[in-house]
Amino acid sequence: LKRDPKYAQVTEEHINFFWRLLGSESALIDGVTKDATDDIEPFNADWMRKYRGHTKLVLKPSSTEEVSKVLKYCNDNMLAVVPQGGNTGLVGGSVPVFDEVVINMSRMNQIRSFDDVSGTLVADAGCILEVTDNFLKEKNYIFPLDLGAKGSCHIGGNVATNAGGLRLLRYGSLHGNVLGIEAVLPDGTIVDDLSTLRKNNTGYDLKQLFVGGEGTIGIITGVSILCPRRSNAVNVAFLGLESFEKVQEAFKEAKGQLSEILSAFELMDSYSQDVVYQVTKNNRPLESEHPFYCLIETSGSNSDHDNEKLEKFLEHVMDKNIVSDGVVAQDATQVKSLWGWREGIPESLGYWGGVYKYDVSIPISELYGLVEETREKIAGAGLIGGSDEHPVVSVVGYGHMGDSNLHLNVAMRRYDKRVEALLEPFVYEWISKRNGSISAEHGLGLAKKKYIGYSRSDTMIRLMKQLKDLYDPNGIMNPYKYI
Ligand code: FAD
Repeated sequence: LKRDPKYAQVTEEHINFFWRLLGSESALIDGVTKDATDDIEPFNADWMRKYRGHTKLVLKPSSTEEVSKVLKYCNDNMLAVVPQGGNTGLVGGSVPVFDEVVINMSRMNQIRSFDDVSGTLVADAGCILEVTDNFLKEKNYIFPLDLGAKGSCHIGGNVATNAGGLRLLRYGSLHGNVLGIEAVLPDGTIVDDLSTLRKNNTGYDLKQLFVGGEGTIGIITGVSILCPRRSNAVNVAFLGLESFEKVQEAFKEAKGQLSEILSAFELMDSYSQDVVYQVTKNNRPLESEHPFYCLIETSGSNSDHDNEKLEKFLEHVMDKNIVSDGVVAQDATQVKSLWGWREGIPESLGYWGGVYKYDVSIPISELYGLVEETREKIAGAGLIGGSDEHPVVSVVGYGHMGDSNLHLNVAMRRYDKRVEALLEPFVYEWISKRNGSISAEHGLGLAKKKYIGYSRSDTMIRLMKQLKDLYDPNGIMNPYKYI
């Protein structure tokens, strides 16, 4: 990949413009930071420490009008930009590739309004997910999305990546929950589509292009989103199972018996749990070890009723030999600690050095086959060992079973070209053959730029390019990434 010379380099004149627009007299103010290595590095490096850019300028606008002026200036001056939320994205989309200007949204962090009859929240894109959810908690509502990075990721980033997360099974995708969007196009145009209506069939639903657009056509500055009532009875069961066939049976039973209260069904293989154990040394939830584990969450309105259902379900699946062992959380602390065995996986995997991550959708019956074949391939090449010569620590599979969404992760002592050559395009070919998706919820960013053709036809890619050219004719928005 080469830097495209059509983009201008940041000059003193540009910086002066941004200082006048965003900042005060001080040089290292929050609004604009200038070439100060210490300050700028976190904005250049992604969460996995896999991608590193070389921006010299990070801008933190605090209003939609400021975003508009910044983008218009960048567009007029051919300065390439990277929109950045909490920088927790997992495909290298949120950091520059070369010297693109980072437009970080963290200063746009205000809740604008909340209607506690309809449950509609309107908020700035830079609101942190967990902070927003805590605001909603006080009103007895819940954000319809939850994920492990909630303490850092922004709701604008969530929408820009169309994040799926832990409760999609219950509350559905952001394509359905986002009711409106305010965004700024590269030429400074403010697209004010912050509708709070659930129903609005008046022509093309253009806001959907920003949901999952990964910052390639504009910057989301505000979001209007439908939030469900918070369930006052949340319960969690943690199960051990002997095979992936049994996991599928348990899922079927859970849908049948827990139906309307089922809010999460998460899969974790024993390799993933070993990794969490090695890193955290926490007491394991079950006494014996099993090849597979599931975490089931229920959320309902009546605690007695839900407990009864969950206990009955557990009895049934154990009687039928579908589940070998299981535990139901007794209190909120235990709910949290059981969730830790699922939510702690991504962080624990990063403990040794690096992780190759594949977030994919596969028809459910074949879901785990990809992990087995990948593990065999890597073991066959003698690369498992966690040492310099055998750099693979573990090949693990986990994910949102309820959505047929698998995370195949390869934990590494250090990134290694031999392993890369085994993984790609093997993984993508495997998925394509089964009509799966090479990106279920993380997006394409830089990591999957080359591989979009495994999941999208030439016609679809051509239409995407036409839309990109229409919204961003100069190509300044998040260049070098998937489109
Ligand atoms: P960033 O990482 O800053 O940006 C992501 C992309 O969106 C970039 O392309 C960026 O240019 C663009 N972008 C950001 N903000 C804007 C904006 N305001 N306007 C336009 N474009 C913008 N994802 C899931 O789907 N499900 C999970 O369960 C899940 N779990 C995770 C667990 C962990 C521990 C981590 C680290 C990540 C996880 N993710 C998960 C990845 C997920 O994509 C991000 O956590 C989140 O959605 C990205 O939000 P962010 O604010 O950090 O965006």
